Amino acid sequence: MEKKVRVRFAPSPTGGLHLGGVRTVLYNYLFAKQHGGDFVLRIEDTDQNRYVPGAEEYIFECLKWVGLEPDESPLHGGPYAPYRQSERKEMYRQYAEQLVKQGNAYYAFDTPAELEAMREKFRTEENPSPQYNHSLRGRMRNSLTMSEDEVSRLLKEGTPHVIRIKMPENETLTFTDIIRGEVHFNSSLVDDKVLLKADGMPTYHLAVVIDDYSMKITHAFRGEEWLPSAPVHLLLWKYLGWEQEMPQWAHFPLILKPDGHGKLSKRDGDRLGFPVFAMNWKDPRNEELTHGFRELGFLPEAFINMLAVLGWNDGTEQELFSLEELVNKFSLENVHKGGAKFNYEKAKWFNHEWIKKLPVDRWQSTVRKEFEKNGIIIKDEEKFIRVLELVKDRCTLLTDFFTQASFFFKAPEALDVASVKPKWNEDKSMFFDILSEKLTTLEEWNATAIEALFKETATEKGIKMGELQLPFRIMLVGGKFGPTVFDIAALIGKEETIARIRKGLSDIGL
Ligand code: GLU
Repeated sequence: MEKKVRVRFAPSPTGGLHLGGVRTVLYNYLFAKQHGGDFVLRIEDTDQNRYVPGAEEYIFECLKWVGLEPDESPLHGGPYAPYRQSERKEMYRQYAEQLVKQGNAYYAFDTPAELEAMREKFRTEENPSPQYNHSLRGRMRNSLTMSEDEVSRLLKEGTPHVIRIKMPENETLTFTDIIRGEVHFNSSLVDDKVLLKADGMPTYHLAVVIDDYSMKITHAFRGEEWLPSAPVHLLLWKYLGWEQEMPQWAHFPLILKPDGHGKLSKRDGDRLGFPVFAMNWKDPRNEELTHGFRELGFLPEAFINMLAVLGWNDGTEQELFSLEELVNKFSLENVHKGGAKFNYEKAKWFNHEWIKKLPVDRWQSTVRKEFEKNGIIIKDEEKFIRVLELVKDRCTLLTDFFTQASFFFKAPEALDVASVKPKWNEDKSMFFDILSEKLTTLEEWNATAIEALFKETATEKGIKMGELQLPFRIMLVGGKFGPTVFDIAALIGKEETIARIRKGLSDIGL
């Protein structure tokens, strides 16, 4: 019987989610849903020094925002709980001890000072940071170099120690990556990684293998930066006797800086003025705020779509995909091997397309909150929707709606009179005077009727329509933007239109 597909996203709670992390979530999610499988979220918090309070909550909130929620997690529970590695601490040691017994790992008692002395002593120009490996372990204080009696004595006395993997010399280790095909490593190039730390916590290497095994993970997808760790993991799967159960691996390409040179970092975002985090993240260690896509006004649909095609396509020219379509069309075989350049302008293009594509009610409440934050309380829901429909083509980010539409609900504070003044004259002033009078008696209040009256008055005064529309816009909107002036007047209503003309006339003066 085919095994049920089970994938996992295994973040370390060391900070907010970078867009590369969300893309890993997305590809995991798509694969799981496509195969009717389970998507597990496991918190890898064994490195207590790097633990950042709030990071775990951030991850959950982020997955909720993008709509990629796990089936099992510390928050959602599940049959393989606990899903937080720090809560599984007790189960790791036995496996590390088993490896020592088998001769695949050893106790190492070297103190930090001794490790430093080793690095000093063996440092050469070709090898500036010597590693604890097959060539040096014979000179260090470990169970390979010490007598059995001494080792037991040290252990009995509770001497601080770690357990290290004993990497074999000159073996070629191979596995087949779903995206890259066969990948080979020379075991001599890998150091004897610590598996169990002095505090009894496993390192990532040991914990990831034990948990992927015990949580019955069938496919493990992660970023390319983890590829160098693969030989250690391969050996652990083998030494623990679980080789047959090893998940199929896929290592996703990096997300690159816009110029393609190197991995995209938070610093690139700061330097070039775009977010690299999914949501705002405030690092509690230094209170520094990193801006996120959500707060900048991105729709989750657009964010997901943009990430999906950052390193994948379906083999056609299609760029816009809904989550449902992605679940149907995604395939790991079409994930590119090379890194994908991040392009912020393209990210915004996706957002603009999704604003136009989705029904207003999908994002209306986000925009309403933005208005409220800026002091505008929406009372007339119907008018609000009509306004949003009218201006949505002009908005790239959800935050643009405030600039593009606040004047529908609140008269502009300052008018750009400078753009009207040079061509202003008494005739124009009179025109608006008469217009405001006539508007009071206009029975039908709609764009067509207002435009007809405007035209008729302009003809009477012998002024070209083109000369009058700009001042009208400045009076209603405050600046040179927005949809057709007659649509604006229709929506803001008779009284307000007349009031703004009067205020405009007095601001422009003569
Ligand atoms: N804890 C690792 C991380 O923070 C997980 C790597 C993996 O998926 O194996 O990315």
